[in-house]
Amino acid sequence: MTHPAPLASANLSPRADVLARIAAAARSAGRDRSDTALVAVSKQQPWSRIRSVLDDGQRIFGENRVQEALDRWREVRAELADLELRLIGPLQSNKALDAVTHFDVIEVLDRPKLARAITDAMSSTGRTPRLYVQVNTGEEPQKSGVRPDALDAFLLALRRDFGLTAEGLMCIPPAAEPAGLHFALLAKLAARNGLERLSMGMSADFETAVRFGATSVRVGSALFGARAADAPAL
Ligand SMILES: *Cc1c(COP(=O)(O)O)cnc(C)c1O
Repeated sequence: MTHPAPLASANLSPRADVLARIAAAARSAGRDRSDTALVAVSKQQPWSRIRSVLDDGQRIFGENRVQEALDRWREVRAELADLELRLIGPLQSNKALDAVTHFDVIEVLDRPKLARAITDAMSSTGRTPRLYVQVNTGEEPQKSGVRPDALDAFLLALRRDFGLTAEGLMCIPPAAEPAGLHFALLAKLAARNGLERLSMGMSADFETAVRFGATSVRVGSALFGARAADAPAL
C-alpha cells in the first residue's frame, strides 16, 4: 500500500471516508478528484441512514426501482433544488414516463423499445434527463445492457432513429471476474464513440474504477451499511 490510512480516518463520516478513497485513487492515477462524482446508492436503505448522508452534504443518489424512488424522494425533491436522482436499475418501457418525470439521469438505456418510450415521455413532459447506455461487458445472458459488439450500431440508431444522444456508458461487471478488465473495456468503447462519461465501480471496486477513468461511481453499502435484503439479481 502506498497510501497509509490517515490517522483521522476513524473519525471520518462514511461519506468523507469514501470521498477520501476516491481522492487517493484519483491521485494515484494522475486524475483530478473532482472528475469523479459519488453517486450514493440508496436502494433498500432505511430513511434514517439516507438522511444522515444527505445531512453530510451528499446530493447525488442512485435508485434501482422507479416506484421505490418515487415514494421515497418525492417530497424531499421538492425541497432540495440541487438533488440529483439517477436510475440505475432495469427499466420497463411502461415505466418510462415515471422515470423521465422523476429522474435527472437514466443510466440503463439498452434497447430501441425503451429508447422509443423515453423519447415519447420526453416530448410529452418536456423533460430531458441525461442518458447513459448500459453495456453488458460480461455478455451475461441474465443481465441487461447492450453487448459490446452491438454498441456502436445502437448509439448510431439512438441518434438517427430517436434523436437521442447518450452522455456516457454504464456497466455492472460479472461478480466473479476482475472488474478492471470490464472497466478498461467500457473506457475503450466510450473513447471509440466519443463519449466522455463512465458510470462504473461499486462498493467493492470503486477505487479500481477511478483508476480506469470512472466519472461517477455508484456506492451503496460502503456508504450506508449493508442493505436489509440483498438486491435482486440484476
Ligand atoms: C446496488 C447497486 C450498486 C451499489 O452496490 P454496493 O455494492 O452496495 O455499492 C451499484 N450499482 C448498481 C447498478 C446497483 O444495483
